[in-house]
Amino acid sequence: MLISSYNLWLVATSFVVALLASYTALDLTGRILRVGSPMLRHAWLAGGAVAMGVGIWSMHFIAMLAYSLPIPLGYDFAITGLSLALAIVVSYFALFVTTRKVLTTPHLLCGGLLMGLGIAGMHYTGMAAMKMDPAIHYQTGWYAASIVIAIGAATAALWIARTLRDEDQHNVFGKRCAAALIMAIAISGMHYSGMQGVGFPAGSICGAAGGVDSHWLAAVVTLFSLAVIALTLILSRLDARAATLMGAVSRLNGQIVRLATIDTLTGLPNRKTLKERIERAIDQSRRRSGMFAILFMDLDGFKTINDSLGHSAGDEVLASFAQRLQLCVRSSDTVARLGGDEFVVLSENLTSHDDAGKIAETVLERMRKGVWTDNQPLQVMPSIGIALFPQDGETVDELLKNADAAMYEAKRGGRSTYRFFEAKMNEAATRTLNIQNAMHDAMTKGYFSLHFQPKFRGDGDELAGAEALIRLNHPQLGLLGPLEFIPIAERSGQIVQIGYWVVRETCRQIRRWAADGLPQVKVAINLSPRQLSQPKLVSKILEIVKAEGVACEQIMFEITETVAMTDAQRTTEMIREFQACGFEIAIDDFGTGYSSLAYLQRFRVKQLKIDRFFTNGLDSGGPGGAAIVSAIIALAHSLDMDVVAEGVETATQRDKLKEMACDELQGFLLARPLTADAFADLLKERIEAA
Ligand code: C2E
Ligand code: MG
Ligand code: MG
Repeated sequence: MLISSYNLWLVATSFVVALLASYTALDLTGRILRVGSPMLRHAWLAGGAVAMGVGIWSMHFIAMLAYSLPIPLGYDFAITGLSLALAIVVSYFALFVTTRKVLTTPHLLCGGLLMGLGIAGMHYTGMAAMKMDPAIHYQTGWYAASIVIAIGAATAALWIARTLRDEDQHNVFGKRCAAALIMAIAISGMHYSGMQGVGFPAGSICGAAGGVDSHWLAAVVTLFSLAVIALTLILSRLDARAATLMGAVSRLNGQIVRLATIDTLTGLPNRKTLKERIERAIDQSRRRSGMFAILFMDLDGFKTINDSLGHSAGDEVLASFAQRLQLCVRSSDTVARLGGDEFVVLSENLTSHDDAGKIAETVLERMRKGVWTDNQPLQVMPSIGIALFPQDGETVDELLKNADAAMYEAKRGGRSTYRFFEAKMNEAATRTLNIQNAMHDAMTKGYFSLHFQPKFRGDGDELAGAEALIRLNHPQLGLLGPLEFIPIAERSGQIVQIGYWVVRETCRQIRRWAADGLPQVKVAINLSPRQLSQPKLVSKILEIVKAEGVACEQIMFEITETVAMTDAQRTTEMIREFQACGFEIAIDDFGTGYSSLAYLQRFRVKQLKIDRFFTNGLDSGGPGGAAIVSAIIALAHSLDMDVVAEGVETATQRDKLKEMACDELQGFLLARPLTADAFADLLKERIEAA
């Protein structure tokens, strides 16, 4: 037998090539698995098979070049090419098997068997390319061992590639490196164990020996295979990057779509989404001649919460209301937030108009007494307006507008209640809009005016003062009373500027009367809730009064009881501020709210104005009505307050009030609200009578 030897550098090189080929194979399985289009998948399979095949084959070929005998050796070109082709086919097969969607154990074993035989086939074809004469002598034991090792290694390789193919695993790079090392050892093991059983009888001649230097050949094959492997790896990585990028872009796109359709504060669908759903509901209801309802909700008193407790408290209220609202409706209903404190429920597939009413009732009832998991102590109630398809509108905008009009009616009808849309509400909504527009330039165009209603002393007929009452006289709308336009101005915020105008105008009027030599009277000015939540209300008013040159003692402010009690602590502070400037304060419409008597004491105001309702009760309420009024008067006196009875319309009322020692009387019986000139005449009469 000829004595053989190995060039260790080339052995090492062959191992490195095996390592890289293995890693490439693992990387490719992960890559191919992610490719969506079948065309691209085949391209990657083919390209990957070439790279892997070249890798495996060149490992083998370099290992052969590392092997030397004391005779010249060479390789037949065609047969070597055949072994390369075999390697590529085997690689294609391996990649195909590992990137199948499902891989059962029998599949894996069969695959491993075929692949092992293929690699062994490649190896021994490569050996045949030496064209030895006499033929190479193979030892049966080593021969069999090499084939078993090939099959075992192939099966293990398939299995490893399979388990590591998911690119999202933790530290997939490290795992693949370790796996590639094992696979390289297996492949090399197969080769070198096969070579162990090879024997070349003495006097053998290599038929393929042809002058090409084996070192040169080794270098070329190594470089070539490394280039192919590297190129494949780079392409694979670039492709993976692009795929990741695509993934990120589509995720981002998802977020953008979400932002555009969802209200971020509450997580509910926003106005845009709601409109789309109503659109769809219209289509469906038309086809099936079905019915659906739009419930338009606006939180009662939310502006006060927001103004007094701050925006973050307001946001919390909105978020928890949104959550609660979802619990009140059916899961098939859409709950959306339009913005601000406006919410809409779209309820489809209703059988009758009553169904919608029931939903509204459920919402109101559960909001009133519900126990919620969010532990928000604040109780917020909505006013609800309902519009039904098809009778209340054919388009999204019409339905929403009409539901809004119905909601507005619910607010006017005492809040925390619901109303179905009726055609006449639209007229109300239009009128509201007209009034809002009219107020817009009322101040500059002089449409506002003040009337003054005299107040008289209860012990005699002496004039005790006057209350300034605003009027709006518009060329188109006519003369409007404050009960109609003040609530609108409250809602739109116009009340703030109007309020300052009233103060300024009252001061000017006081000065005019003084200039005419008329006696001084104290004038009361009404303040509404929105004005009271203005941060610098008192100093701003003081500034106006000072600028007009009027003494603060000439003016008094009326705050309605309900408003005063909403935030009694703040009201107390504000009253102190007013009093510190010299203004007096009255609690207006007393008896309509739920006064805590303790607060009444803390307020320490000058006057308590009993609501007209109680004055009326003196006539119609029997002895009970009189008892209440006299109790209120007694209480006020004990707290050192004067009592003014509002709305005195009959002589009986007047007489009873005088009997009860009511301090002041105000009402149509004594005098209606008068224009400034008429009030001046009254003052003149008084001087003359005296
Ligand atoms: P208020 O402060 O309780 O004013 C008394 C209202 O009762 C006035 O109505 C007055 O005309 C009316 N009234 C007086 N005597 C009688 C009577 O004997 N019988 C009946 N039925 N009514 C009587 P007006 O002028 O329509 O004002 C309504 C409300 O509008 C006022 O109630 C007040 O809360 C508010 N208001 C009036 N002017 C202003 C203002 O300048 N600013 C603000 N914020 N609110 C105002
Ligand atoms: Mg008043
Ligand atoms: Mg009043």
